[in-house]
Amino acid sequence: MPASSYTVAEGQAQDSCEHIAQVATVEPSTPGQCEDCIREGSRWVHLRLCLSCGHMGCCDNSPRRHATAHWHASRHPVIRSAEPGEEWAWCYPDELMLVPIEV
Ligand SMILES: [Zn+2]
Ligand SMILES: [Zn+2]
Ligand SMILES: [Zn+2]
Repeated sequence: MPASSYTVAEGQAQDSCEHIAQVATVEPSTPGQCEDCIREGSRWVHLRLCLSCGHMGCCDNSPRRHATAHWHASRHPVIRSAEPGEEWAWCYPDELMLVPIEV
C-alpha cells in the first residue's frame, strides 16, 4: 500500500519539490497512534507519518501538533497522512501538497 514516490499536486505555487527524493520506505513507530501523545497522555485528531524516519505524529488540528513539532525538531521535510484511505503527503519546507505516483 505505501506509495513508492510522490509528485507535487497540481495548482500550487511551484511544481517541483526537491524533498521528494528524501522520502523513504518507513515503518510507523506506533501504528494507529501518535507516539508523543501516548507519552504525554494527550489526544490526537488525525495521524501523520514522517517519511524520513517513521515517526507517528498528530495533525495541526490536534492540541499538541506533534507532526509539525517533529518537523521543527528533526527537519525531516515530508509527512504523509496516516488516516485510512488518505494518501496525500505534505512538504513542510515548501508548503506543498504531494500526491502519490501510481506505479
Ligand atoms: Zn519540498
Ligand atoms: Zn500527538
Ligand atoms: Zn522523522
